[in-house]
Amino acid sequence: MNDVLRRRYDLVVFDVDGTLVGSRDGRVVWRLINDRFLGDQEIDDQRWQAFLQGELLYEDWVRLDVEGWQSAGLSRERISSAIAADLYPMPGAKETIATLSDAGYRVAVISGTLNLTLEVLLPDCRFDAVFTNHVEFDDQGKISGWRATPYDMAGKADGLHRVCEELAVPVERAVFVGDNVNDIEIMKVAGFAIAYEPKAPSVADVADVVIEGDLRQLIELID
Ligand SMILES: [Mg+2]
Repeated sequence: MNDVLRRRYDLVVFDVDGTLVGSRDGRVVWRLINDRFLGDQEIDDQRWQAFLQGELLYEDWVRLDVEGWQSAGLSRERISSAIAADLYPMPGAKETIATLSDAGYRVAVISGTLNLTLEVLLPDCRFDAVFTNHVEFDDQGKISGWRATPYDMAGKADGLHRVCEELAVPVERAVFVGDNVNDIEIMKVAGFAIAYEPKAPSVADVADVVIEGDLRQLIELID
């Protein structure tokens, strides 16, 4: 039997912030941009709490944050520079994606990050499907629009069903790799769930395996 037929999984789906991309102090890209350019951490905390309590819809949270960036006159260049300065690809991230693709796995992203995070930090990675939040810019590099992803938090599990449908892969043959509490629901649905440097015990509990350090470890785990 050849390798493809013997293989247990066909698709590997990654979270971004905290999984493919790290920050020195654990902040995700949203928080990083808000802190750097708007400087009011209390607003971040209030919006997070309001979201948790069901008083703020996810898409409104995205809108409020991006409108704040727009009011502050942030350009594509300034946001990209902040991402490049404060975030970095996790050890082995680029190599892992390239190795999986070359081996015939489909590779996808389902994340609450910004499209710019991948464009700035992992520009050469080829993904078969990408679901993230989008910020759009005009010819002058000013923010001209945005689209909130329906596939963050509990919606990540719906995102996995959608990606599996688009790529014609059964969910039980999909691996998911994530780090935080917004990954718990998708981890329950995926055929195999890897917690990468989990930020809460509940994430490690729901995963099939926990890894730390170089992401290339996951290749042997799923092979
Ligand atoms: Mg994450």
